[in-house]
Amino acid sequence: MCGNVNENSAEAISAQVADAATQPTATTHKLLDDLVLANHILFNNGVVDAFGHVSVRHDVRPDRFLLARNMAPDNGTIDDIVEFNLDGEPVNANGHRVYLERFIHSEIYRARSDVMAVVHSHSHAIVPLSVAKDFPLRPLFHMAGFIGTAAPVFEIRDAGGNGTDLLISNQMLGRALSGLFKSSAIVLMRGHGSTVVAETLQKVVYRAVYAEINARYQMEANKLGPITYLTEEEARSCVTSIEGQIQRPWDLWTEQARMKALAKRERGV
Ligand SMILES: [Zn+2]
Repeated sequence: MCGNVNENSAEAISAQVADAATQPTATTHKLLDDLVLANHILFNNGVVDAFGHVSVRHDVRPDRFLLARNMAPDNGTIDDIVEFNLDGEPVNANGHRVYLERFIHSEIYRARSDVMAVVHSHSHAIVPLSVAKDFPLRPLFHMAGFIGTAAPVFEIRDAGGNGTDLLISNQMLGRALSGLFKSSAIVLMRGHGSTVVAETLQKVVYRAVYAEINARYQMEANKLGPITYLTEEEARSCVTSIEGQIQRPWDLWTEQARMKALAKRERGV
């Protein structure tokens, strides 16, 4: 467990943590740039706001991952990306605060060698489904087959008791969450949000965006009457066909993010 020195401060959802006694490992500019873009794209699509985060497994050291330091995702640049080990310890935070919930990422990467990218968010349409006892997130259109038949819901009381702040603030809670991704690429977290996993950064962004859209559609369709959801077989078929096309939205969202960054620079923001 890492040495948290200031987790009970006013900024309780971040932590100032001593760097692990090891060196960061060089990665490509492209991976860092893509991770910054992923942060901006998730903000532009309403998946993250001032809160939420996205990470990618290190491309040279699979026992490390890259995640922004504690900040609003849309404000980040390459200089804000920090390398972490699988204990959730930063390698090169250099005194910057880090996300309290980094253990979501570290424990999923530890448990699942096939997962290369993780998004955690509190996106607005997902949260109601995380608390509705008889209304699970289920895929109702072809873009959301990755949900499987229904997204599991992580009940933090099972692992942390009745008095937690609902945050995944240590390795034990991260480990409990990481065990729920067997049947779905997304797990809802009761009263909190969701976490999405994928084999690529582009795919995890796509899934996080369309999980939020599916949740919204589900609540809208439910007002009209009983909903016809995808079958398990349809969900699988949709994953195969649609997720081969994700370069298209990634290119579009990248272009939008770059245009917005350019406009901000021109305004001197
Ligand atoms: Zn959270």
